[in-house]
Amino acid sequence: MPACCSCEDVFQYETDKVIRIQSMNYGTIKWFFHVIVFSYVSFALVSDKLYQQKEPVISSVHTKVKGIAEVKEEIIENGVKKSVQHVFDTADYTFPLQGNSFFVMTNFLKTEGQEQRLCPEYPTRRTLCSSDRGCKKGWMDPKSKGIQTGRCIVYKGNQKTCEVAAWCPIEAVEEAPRRNILPGLNITCNFHKTQNPQCPIFRLGDIFRETGDNFSDVAIQGGIMGIEIYWDCDLDSWFHRCRPKYSFRRLDDKTTNESLYPGYNFRYAKYYKENNVEKRTLIKVFGIRFDILVFGTGGKFDIIQLIVYIGSTLSYFGLATMFIDFLINTYSSSCCRSHVYPCCKCCEPCAVNEYYYRKKCESIVEPKPTLKYVSFVDESHIRMVDQQLLGKSLQDVKGQEVPRPPLDFTDLSKLPLTLHDPPSVPRETEEMQPLHEEVTPRSGDSPEWCQCGSCLRSQLPESHRCLEELCCRKKPGACITTSQPFRKLVLSRHVLQFLLLYQEPLLELDADSTNSRLRHCAYRCYTTWRFGSQDMADFAILPSCCRWRIWREFPKSKGQYSGFKSPY
Ligand code: GDP
Ligand code: ZN
Ligand code: ZN
Repeated sequence: MPACCSCEDVFQYETDKVIRIQSMNYGTIKWFFHVIVFSYVSFALVSDKLYQQKEPVISSVHTKVKGIAEVKEEIIENGVKKSVQHVFDTADYTFPLQGNSFFVMTNFLKTEGQEQRLCPEYPTRRTLCSSDRGCKKGWMDPKSKGIQTGRCIVYKGNQKTCEVAAWCPIEAVEEAPRRNILPGLNITCNFHKTQNPQCPIFRLGDIFRETGDNFSDVAIQGGIMGIEIYWDCDLDSWFHRCRPKYSFRRLDDKTTNESLYPGYNFRYAKYYKENNVEKRTLIKVFGIRFDILVFGTGGKFDIIQLIVYIGSTLSYFGLATMFIDFLINTYSSSCCRSHVYPCCKCCEPCAVNEYYYRKKCESIVEPKPTLKYVSFVDESHIRMVDQQLLGKSLQDVKGQEVPRPPLDFTDLSKLPLTLHDPPSVPRETEEMQPLHEEVTPRSGDSPEWCQCGSCLRSQLPESHRCLEELCCRKKPGACITTSQPFRKLVLSRHVLQFLLLYQEPLLELDADSTNSRLRHCAYRCYTTWRFGSQDMADFAILPSCCRWRIWREFPKSKGQYSGFKSPY
């Protein structure tokens, strides 16, 4: 499209010209691809609800922990072991936590009546001592229960540990107390993965069974359990569905070395005053923290979303074109374009594809000033020369072979060949004769590169001469100027006049311009005849014999002939 320069240029529309190949095979391939693409696109649209505008879930969770626990506590009173039954309700075993979490106490370790004073440390490898020298005043570490005073005192029996200033008595870092869940404890519960997957009431045991853990085991050391709530909401009125899916995941690291961070626990204290002494009961709580993780999306039909999806899938319909074009291009390039005829057997579809390729693809050569085409009457192909001649005559340049385009008879049929042309051909025989192949004897004037005996030396200056040093033949033989078509087409004044008038019906041929017009028309007749396509004709060089023959028929009254000029 030329650069926009007027209003009319704006109001125009360009469309692509296409080639329709009427072929059973390619038609089938096209529909095959289209059906597959269409099925996939429709399936994805419906199954993934790609017509919906989707947004992530924003959630707030509300939880309640319910149930009563029966606890058996073993206490030692006046040296006698006693078993006491307690009933724990929600307030006893849950603790308010921030965020989407709740906590259920499953085990505890109670140290009652603690007060601020000096007492022996709990015996460990670091705190055991035999004399004051084993203790260091002011020493503590993250595991210490208090600050050491530097004295070594009796802990129990003959066990001695360093004295500390702390909440005393020190909590016994014993093994977590025994489990308080009786085996076979029967609590009815509502949630069930398959039978009742929607019920949001979970029995602790069921949750653990889902993740492959045993509640009674986890209850001893505690743990962290994730309750995943996945919302996949379809908010379209015709298919409204918005229900959560529950799943569970153990979040604490089961495989961590148990002595490092066993389970989940924390300590809390109850403070009170007894006889004006501040005391506390320290409780180490083991339990399961439940973290509720909510995620998911909600989607609703959105026309923009649908249009965007359709738009994004349209390119897939080009898949058939891409594949078929690939077949045509590869088949035709592999053997046929290398001009090895006949094609190998494997290339049966080759010839057909070659034909499609020719119809589809128009290749053009860059119109360089050095580009020339040459045709010899005794060669089936045309030669393309794309180089500076530099003193070498055009006859001797090898060039590149180009197939001769098939003859277009439509132009030829316009010629008034049936009309007699008495001045140029005095006696017309009924039969058309082919070009006689006997070698005409070389005239004395004919230059060494001439093979037909009719060429003459160029009149151009030395530097341009090589361009006109071209014969109508590659090997010795009869000259093309003696052939019937040459006489009837190129030399016939009658035909040339007809062609000029055909082009310009109002043309008045005065004596001055007649010859020059007829001559130029004769050049064109020759090049169109011998080169076929207009692209080549524009760069075609006339052989010397033809040029001289035309000059003799339509001479220039004064001055030199200007000769071939590259059109670009
Ligand atoms: P002029 O009539 O005095 O200008 O000289 P010519 O009879 O040589 O004609 C010049 C015109 O003919 C120019 O347009 C040239 O491009 C064209 N012409 C001359 N020789 C050739 C040739 O060999 N091949 C082609 N294609 N055109 C030619
Ligand atoms: Zn010649
Ligand atoms: Zn010749």
